[in-house]
This record gives sequence, structure tokens and C-alpha cells, in this order.
Amino acid sequence: MHSRQWVCRACGYNMISAMPDVCPFCGAVQDKFINWEEAEKTYRVMPRQVNDSVTQLVSVPGLGLEHAAYRIETQKGAVWIDCPSAFNRDLKAVDAIFFTHPHFMGASNLYRKLWQAKVYLHALDAENILMQSFPVDVRFNSDFNYQEIEAFPVGGHTPGYTLYIYQDVLFICDYAFPPGNKMQLNPHGPNQETICGAQRILAIIKGKQLTTVCGYN
Ligand SMILES: [Zn+2]
Ligand SMILES: [Zn+2]
Repeated sequence: MHSRQWVCRACGYNMISAMPDVCPFCGAVQDKFINWEEAEKTYRVMPRQVNDSVTQLVSVPGLGLEHAAYRIETQKGAVWIDCPSAFNRDLKAVDAIFFTHPHFMGASNLYRKLWQAKVYLHALDAENILMQSFPVDVRFNSDFNYQEIEAFPVGGHTPGYTLYIYQDVLFICDYAFPPGNKMQLNPHGPNQETICGAQRILAIIKGKQLTTVCGYN
């Protein structure tokens, strides 16, 4: 198990190996950092049932800007879409962790090691400087299926941004929010590309019978 890892309480970013002076993600200083063992004692990753096969995972108490991760129980095994910032080694194992984008790699390196899980991230996003120290097993660059999960890289919010669809559930962390008629595209990213990606999203979901959208919260 990696012994040197720090979690930024301001944003939830995991820093691997030596402690930096400031958080590379949000710029917070060291008094906001705790080591991952302390984080494991302080933060519980709590499941909330979304439907029969999908569970939302968030840390309690809230860990910075952490985005929700989701567990999908497929016929052939379980996977996560995105990853909690806190490491809880007593969570139920998954075979793979699929990232929508690299803003919150969470404690994916620790879960990967504990469960021998495979980490999937788009090749363009794997170039992101913020996640250079996080291991990625599969760098994909086009649509693919994994069991019954469909993956569609659309770009936009990040160059390799990827949405996932499982049955009638769309996983689209961080692309648009909040739910309801005030929804807007995420402004923290390149504007024009985000709009192009949104058009691709509309084309993908057209004709699909979706009932649930799983976003960052
Ligand atoms: Zn931070
Ligand atoms: Zn993001």
C-alpha cells in the first residue's frame, strides 16, 4: 500500500508521494492537507441507492469539491464510474474504474492496488498534468462497450471527456448542472468545445430511453 499520499480537504484532490507546498488542483496550502490514513478514519464513503443496479458514492462529511462516484452492479460484475476522494478499504470491490474525466481521480490508485481493478481514462485526458502520478491501465480513444456499459468520448469539458450509459442511466459527471430549468453547461472548460460536445451528447442520447441522469451530485 502506498504510504505517502495526501488528500486536500479544500478540494478532495489526492497528492501522491512527496507533499507539495500547495495543492496542484485548488492552490490550498499544507494546513488543508491530511494523509490518506487520517482521511480514511475521518471520511466514510456512503452508498445511496439510485436504482436496483446503481449506487451513488459520496464521502461523509463532504470532502472538498469531491464529485459523486457511482457503482454499477452488472450481470457479470461491478464497476465504478469515477472514484471517491477518500479511501475506505472496506468498500465492496469492483473490477474496473471508468473515468468521465480526470478532474477527480480520487483515491483511484489505492483502490486499484487493493482490488487489482483496471483504471480506464481517455488517452487525451491521461496527458493531463494533474493526473500524471495516477496509474491508468486502459487509455482509450474511441467508443467502446464493457459488458453492458457503453462509453462515448465527446470531449468538451475536457479533451477526452467521456459519458457512459448503462441501461436507462446516463453518467455525465460535471458536464452540465444544476438539474432543472436553470441547467447550464459547465463554464470551467473551453466554451466552444463544450458546446460541440453537448451537441454530440444530444445526438447520442436521441432515441435512447433514459430515465436517470447521474451528475456530479
Ligand atoms: Zn485542493
Ligand atoms: Zn470537471
